[in-house]
Parts: sequence; structure tokens; C-alpha cells
Amino acid sequence: MLRRSFLCNIVAASAGGVLLRAQAAGVSVAPLRDKLYLLSGAGGNIIIQEGPDGLLMVDSGLSDSTAAILGQTDKIGKGQITQLFNTHWHTDHTGSNVILGQKGAQITAQENVKTRLAKGQYMEFFKRKVDPMDPAGLPTVTFKDKGKIKFASETAHYEHLPPAHTDGDSIIHFHNANVFHGGDLLFNGMYPFIDYGSAGSLAGMAGNAERILKMVDESTIIVPGHGAVAKKGDVKEFADMLAGSLDIFSKNLKAGKTLEQMQADQPFKAYDGKWGNGFMKPEAWIAMNYAGMKQSA
Ligand SMILES: [Zn+2]
Repeated sequence: MLRRSFLCNIVAASAGGVLLRAQAAGVSVAPLRDKLYLLSGAGGNIIIQEGPDGLLMVDSGLSDSTAAILGQTDKIGKGQITQLFNTHWHTDHTGSNVILGQKGAQITAQENVKTRLAKGQYMEFFKRKVDPMDPAGLPTVTFKDKGKIKFASETAHYEHLPPAHTDGDSIIHFHNANVFHGGDLLFNGMYPFIDYGSAGSLAGMAGNAERILKMVDESTIIVPGHGAVAKKGDVKEFADMLAGSLDIFSKNLKAGKTLEQMQADQPFKAYDGKWGNGFMKPEAWIAMNYAGMKQSA
């Protein structure tokens, strides 16, 4: 087991594009509240809602993990996934879309998610080409701004926020249970990946973290795209780190610092201890934002 995870980590470290594949070995399910569950270890965090006639799922993990995901969902209620909501297009959140679509799930996502999935993408940061998705996995219901899904005793409200992680990010809030999925607008305890190639930006991330703070309260169970389940206080810390980071980048770029100078100066020292131990190491955090902000300057 140890040996396996060690090897996985090497693979993950050497090929950023498969960074989250290392987690695929341990897919697990934990109850959240009411009939809602967290499925983790399959890429991005997944929420499952159990209804009398089937399941609703938020995000569909990595394609490598589809069998493991279905192995877990088969044990919940009737097991059949009838509704799928995608928080954004990334492959660690849409990996089981094709199989779920083929099995008849209705797939809901913001319209930019469908556009990007249908077209295929290139992720500069990971030097990775993503092929167009098989039409069977594409969203069947798209929206521009917001809407709701009524499912069993719940009404889940979803809303598209301004470009931040990508240009198709949506949050979804199960109002009765007060469970919230922030997609990759939220990373708990680690620097977030920001997809500048999909119109993402650090300023967008900082702005949306503040928006999310107004949507949740102290008792909200907050599921981030990556990392452990969070509370409002964790989102506040994340928002503060993003605002502080934005300020640091603005000042350094204004001062004409090169990437090498910034990496040598370690201006994020105060944040690195808490946020720099995830998959996005301090040097990568600087390089990603430096390149992205230079490009859009
Ligand atoms: Zn993502």
C-alpha cells in the first residue's frame, strides 16, 4: 500500500496533468447531512443526494475512477444516477460524464462548460491536450446565470459566478440541508489551480471567494472542489489569502520584478506554511499567476 502510493506520488509529481490521479486508489463515501453524502478520492470532491427513485450527483470525478465511483454509488439507495450537475468542465470533475450520460442521466451545467467540453481544450499549465468529449457526456440542460433542481425533498439552487477558476464555474447550494458545493472556486488548505487558459484569474478567484462568504452561514457544510469539507471560517481564510496574494502580485509586477526574482524573494512566505503543501507548491503558485497575469496585462 505504501509502495503503491509512493509510486503514485512520483507519477503525479512528474506529470502535473495527472496530479489528482494519485487519489484514485482510495474512493470513499461519508455522510454529510440528511440524505447527502460526500464521495472523495476520485478527483474533485463529489456530492451524492439520495432520492426515492435514484441519485443526484454533483461532479463526476476522473474517468479512471468511474468504476470505483459506481461501486460506491451502487450501495446508496437505488444506485441509479438520474441527475448530474457539473461545477465546471475540468476532467477531474467530468470524467464519468460519458458513462453516466449513456446510462440516461440528465446532465446540467453552465453553457460555457458545454462549449469547452464539446470543443476540446489545451491546458498550458499542464502542457496537456484534452480531446473533445463524446457527445453522450455533454450537458443536456444548460443555463446562463442560475436555476434550481428539485430532487426528492431538496431544492438545490445553482448559480454561475464571474470567471475565476474557469469561465463556467457554478456553485450549488442544497438549501434544506444547508450543504454547499463550491467547485474549484474553493480549495481547502492549498493554493488553488487557476485555469488562465479558460479565462480564469486570481482577481476572479478573490472576488468569488467573497461572494461565496455571503451565500453561506456558520452551519453550512461547505464542500470545496479539493481538500477537506470546510466551514465558513475556512472560506474566510481562503478569501484573505487570495486577496493578499493578489496584492503581492500587483505590487511585484508593478515594480517590474521578473519571475526568477519573485521566486527568489519568496513574497508568499507567510502563506506557504498553510497553503503551499498541496499539489500547488509555492514556486508553481508564483509561476502560474505570474504567467497568467503577464499575459492579461
Ligand atoms: Zn478545476
